[in-house]
Amino acid sequence: MFLVRLVYTSSITEGVTESDIQNILDTARNNNTAEDITGVLLFSKNRFLQCLEGSRSNVNKVYHNIVNDNRHSEIVLLDYSEVYEREFADWSMGYIPEMAITRPLTLKYSENASFEPYKMSGSSAHKLLLSLSKTVTVV
Ligand code: FAD
Repeated sequence: MFLVRLVYTSSITEGVTESDIQNILDTARNNNTAEDITGVLLFSKNRFLQCLEGSRSNVNKVYHNIVNDNRHSEIVLLDYSEVYEREFADWSMGYIPEMAITRPLTLKYSENASFEPYKMSGSSAHKLLLSLSKTVTVV
């Protein structure tokens, strides 16, 4: 089964806290390790931006779970591509902290310097995550 990459954005549900995000990450890392899925998750300004990579069937299965999760809403698929290699192979689900987002970096991939993933193309969103993973400490 070949590799795919999926990028989506979503909005956090009101009342979901930082400790809920830690729970999401714990679950994600356990499940993704079992499913050979890798990727990164960025949370900033009440938006999630996440990239998942792995076999098509496993990525589709996990994305189905994610879409049905009531801890976020307004889920928009930004990119779904067949790929020949992983770019986030070091992380079962790496977390990119909010402070990592800088105005110059956002400006590089967006029409202005504010982080608005719903207005980004799939390839810009993917490149932003890739850039961040190379320049900041992903935990
Ligand atoms: P179950 O554990 O059976 O839960 C069913 C539903 O209950 C969930 O969909 C959710 O709506 C709710 N729920 C579960 N736990 C809690 C909780 N602690 N508090 C409140 N509600 C809860 N999962 C992955 O496997 N990989 C990922 O990379 C991944 N990334 C995520 C990113 C985001 C932004 C979010 C919000 C969730 C992510 N998840 C991820 C979690 C995913 O949505 C599912 O909860 C998880 O895959 C377990 O699926 P399940 O059907 O076995 O759910």
